[in-house]
Amino acid sequence: MLPADRNIRFSDHAILETAQLAEELGVARVLLVCGKHAFVASGAAECLPELVRVAAVRRWSDFRANTDVVDLIDGLRLVEEFQPDLILGVGGGSAMDMAKLLCAYQGITDEDRLHEAIRDGAPVTDRRLKLVLSPTTSGSGSEATHFAVVYIGDQKYSIAGPAMLPDIVVLDPALTTSATPYQRATSGIDAVAQAVESLWSVGGTEASRGFAQQALAELIPALPDFVKTGSAESARQMALGSHLAGRAIDVSKTTAAHALSYGITKTYGLPHGHAVALTLGGFIAAHADATDDRLQTAISPQQHRDAMAKILAAWGADSAREARDGFHKLAEGIGLSMDLVQAGVTTRQQVAELVSKVNLERLGNNPVRFTREQLEDLVFRS
Ligand SMILES: [Zn+2]
Repeated sequence: MLPADRNIRFSDHAILETAQLAEELGVARVLLVCGKHAFVASGAAECLPELVRVAAVRRWSDFRANTDVVDLIDGLRLVEEFQPDLILGVGGGSAMDMAKLLCAYQGITDEDRLHEAIRDGAPVTDRRLKLVLSPTTSGSGSEATHFAVVYIGDQKYSIAGPAMLPDIVVLDPALTTSATPYQRATSGIDAVAQAVESLWSVGGTEASRGFAQQALAELIPALPDFVKTGSAESARQMALGSHLAGRAIDVSKTTAAHALSYGITKTYGLPHGHAVALTLGGFIAAHADATDDRLQTAISPQQHRDAMAKILAAWGADSAREARDGFHKLAEGIGLSMDLVQAGVTTRQQVAELVSKVNLERLGNNPVRFTREQLEDLVFRS
């Protein structure tokens, strides 16, 4: 079930009501931020004939995956030129992140000033534009989080603030089935990982753990069928589960498997979800087996045991090993190789390099403390 505290339109073909939403919000100029191909392929473009009857619409798709400041400045200049009153983000995590960033930095068109604002990282506390987000993948859960990622060169920045949350989410499961099975697998396993990491995170709360647990209950049974057949029922469960996982990390943030994944994606070109999944099984086992003295001081042994019990239960597992195997079976069953060697990581030196790139702040949110060497061992054995 969806929590009632946010404005979410959840149904098949909800995207067709976009024109109605525009009228509800009282907007007349819409900047549509969407992927180049997915917008048509997903069926989302079917909302356009109605939308252009009630508003002036400009479409912008000229940006790459992994939101980059070079593209962001182009988008911000377009906002100045077109003067929209609504940003409508339709697509995967990158399109939605870009839509949020346009709202966050509206008014800045100078490159140096934008770099400065991003590096400064001040919280985004207000925006003048209305924001509606509609995911076409299940998913990043970006429509549910108050942060967005942006790159300046190789450097990754996470921009956050309450004004990054949309006014309305259009959660339309029918949009999510046109992607390839591999895309559905990688984005779906990302949602699973986000829910698992949120459950054991130091920053979690009772509310976020509730969302994460609910997310796993939707995602794990639905994912194989979603990848294989894309049935309407599996798509509905995946959309709901991904959104709930997004709600969970909106509070808790992610942990070690995510922290390691960025280097794997950058160096070995693996899609985000696949990169996260490669080490998640290892962390499930290590976290379930961790002795109390290994835990972060901010987390009580009881809380950690409760979280791990919920994760084990999600796979019907009795032991750390079984839960890890359950996760690997799920991932391999949807076509994701869990072999690091196959991904191109063959030597201990390569593992050491990946570990050296890890953002230490993110590791502070991991329930179990790891030295660099312990982390290398875990990854190497994953
Ligand atoms: Zn993720």
